[in-house]
Amino acid sequence: MSSPGPVTVTFAGSGDAFGSGGRHQACIHLRGPGDTAPVLLDCGATSLSALRRCGLDPGEIAAVFVSHLHGDHFGGIPFLILNAQFAGRTSPLTVIGPAGTARRLAGLMECMFPGSSGVRRRFAVDTAELRPGDTITAAGVRAVAFPADHPSGADGPALALRLAFGATVIGYTGDTAWTDALVEVAAGADLLIAEAYYRVKAVPYHLRHADLVAHAGRLASRRIVLTHMSADMLDHLDQVRFETARDGLVLHV
Ligand SMILES: [Zn+2]
Ligand SMILES: [Zn+2]
Repeated sequence: MSSPGPVTVTFAGSGDAFGSGGRHQACIHLRGPGDTAPVLLDCGATSLSALRRCGLDPGEIAAVFVSHLHGDHFGGIPFLILNAQFAGRTSPLTVIGPAGTARRLAGLMECMFPGSSGVRRRFAVDTAELRPGDTITAAGVRAVAFPADHPSGADGPALALRLAFGATVIGYTGDTAWTDALVEVAAGADLLIAEAYYRVKAVPYHLRHADLVAHAGRLASRRIVLTHMSADMLDHLDQVRFETARDGLVLHV
C-alpha cells in the first residue's frame, strides 16, 4: 500500500435518489491537505443528516460543487444555507454548478422555505456557473467542467467534474449516460468516482456497470469507486468489477 494521500474523501451519501439500500443521496465530502476548509461534491436532499452521521460539521464547508440540478444532487443546499444562518456562520459559501444554478437555487429555497432566498445573512452565498470547458478555483480547489449526458433543467449541460487539490485530482461523473468526455475526466486522476446506477438494464441518461466494464480500458485513473447504485446493483455487489462506495466510507487519496 502506498502512504495515505493528502485528500480525505468521505462518502457521506453514496445512494441514488430513492434511498436504495437505506443510503443517503449524493454527498461526497472532500478535505484537502493542511487546514483548508472542506468542500462537497453534490449535496442531495439528505445531506445534512448524512454529514452529521459521519461526524462532519456542515458549517465548515466552504464550497459545494454541483454536478447537476436534480434534487438528489442539489436538494440539500437550502438546508445547508439555513443551518449556517441559524448557527451564526460568517464565512462565505460558494455554490458552483451548471448554467442556471443561481436561478434554480433561489427557486428551490423559495419553494421549500418561502421568503428564505432574499434574507440578509451574516455570510455571503456566492454562486458560479460553469459550462463544459470552464475552469474555476473555489476554496482552493481547481475545478474543470465536462459535458454530461443527463437532463436536469439547467440552462446548460449537466456536468462531470475534475477537482484538483494541488497535485491530487479527483474525477466525478455525476449522473450521465456513457460519453467519451469521461475518458478525459478520468485521465491521470488519482480517483474516479463513477455512478453505476444499474448493472445491464438500459436506463436513459445513467451509467451502467456494463458501460464501465466495456470502457474500463479507457478510464485511466489510478482508482475507480462506484456510487449512486440502485437496488439492482446493491443486490449483486459480489459481481461488481470495481470498488464500491457505502455511506461513511473514507478514502485517503
Ligand atoms: Zn440526475
Ligand atoms: Zn442522481
